Amino acid sequence: MSTPVPASGEAQREVVDLCAELIRFDTSNPTSDERACAEWVVARLAEAGIDSQLVESAPGRANVVARIPGTDPERGALLVHGHLDVVPADAAEWQVPPFSGEIRDGYLWGRGAIDMKDTVAVMLATARHFARTGTRPAREIVLAFLADEEAGGRFGAHWLVEHRPELFAGVTEAIGEGGGFSYALDDTRRLYPIENAQRGMAWMELTATGRAGHGSSPNDENAVTDLAESLTRIGRHTFPVRLIEPVRALLAEAARLQGVDIDFDAEDLDAELAKLGHVADFMQVVLRNSANPTMFTAGYQTNVIPGRATARVDGRFLPGHEQELIDTIDALLLPSVSREWVNHDIAMETGFDGPLVDAMCAAVRAEDPDGHPVPYCNPGGTDAKAFTKLGIRCFGFKGLKLPADLDYGRLFHGVDERVPLEGLRFGVRVMTRLWQDC
Ligand SMILES: [Zn+2]
Repeated sequence: MSTPVPASGEAQREVVDLCAELIRFDTSNPTSDERACAEWVVARLAEAGIDSQLVESAPGRANVVARIPGTDPERGALLVHGHLDVVPADAAEWQVPPFSGEIRDGYLWGRGAIDMKDTVAVMLATARHFARTGTRPAREIVLAFLADEEAGGRFGAHWLVEHRPELFAGVTEAIGEGGGFSYALDDTRRLYPIENAQRGMAWMELTATGRAGHGSSPNDENAVTDLAESLTRIGRHTFPVRLIEPVRALLAEAARLQGVDIDFDAEDLDAELAKLGHVADFMQVVLRNSANPTMFTAGYQTNVIPGRATARVDGRFLPGHEQELIDTIDALLLPSVSREWVNHDIAMETGFDGPLVDAMCAAVRAEDPDGHPVPYCNPGGTDAKAFTKLGIRCFGFKGLKLPADLDYGRLFHGVDERVPLEGLRFGVRVMTRLWQDC
């Protein structure tokens, strides 16, 4: 049962300007820092009467945290987090300068437009709206504007969780990036994947050790050969489908809406899921574990066989399938190749139930009657991995309605990143409802 949304006309107007101004701060990670942008966030909150704290983890690496009291102090707080940094952009590839925040054809263009200064602008516009109108959210809201997400959050979420956990005292649940965008089933119906799971990260360095020697001599302990063979085995390996609950639920809802029968116990599930068309492609990446070789370093001269060669592999595992990934990799490596972690972080999964999930689904349905909220597993990782370590139940939810012909996935870290202006306004309406009802 959704309550009437408080008139948020001014917030819907200002969200576009807020997002454009955010884009104009070049917070490329690496090469820039977030300090100037964070100070601007503090000022925008202060204008509306919201106190905040700017917390630096290192010079220039600035995070901002603020609290908005709720009507029910007995309930745990909801953390709403977004990151201020962006990945770099090569201006030569873009139709518009990537840090200009230009409006063209109904879109706001620029690096960060969907990852994730759009959401940061929605957070700010919604917070300012609640403060200006004296509206209280249903429960306390903790806002976190974070540094360094794009490089793993060592100066952002992970640092705060480790060094300043008291900033998140009383928080029981969180929403951040990774879900809540629309995915067009066809011209009229949209799924809204709400993230309640994430794959884990298993980034590894492989080292082959062999016998150094002259490049012209026979050598059956060539480190380059052994490493290349191991990498080929990994890169060509097809991991088996492992249907986790959020993935099955999304596929089942897509099948229901398309009027397609799917036998989830089919021997060849890939072939079965092909009946779902582009939805099957969209979900390919979360059907199984994965491991891709990405870097290879060896040698210094054509006629010298090096004694050592190293490579990097980007491994990802579904919740509950970490050991399976490790065992598989180890079985694929030749005996001369050893493995160590470069970055190893948890997978996550929480149930798709409870008042917060109900409120997210209701907010979407209220603003988009042809929208169908569904659980979703994020193939990558976000700052949520850090907050999970505080026992916080984490979701990915932004509230972004997109035109059916926009390839959202390709815009992430891509060229000509842009967000529809109406999508930003939709986000404010959804977020306002959510804070009111969560
Ligand atoms: Zn992001």
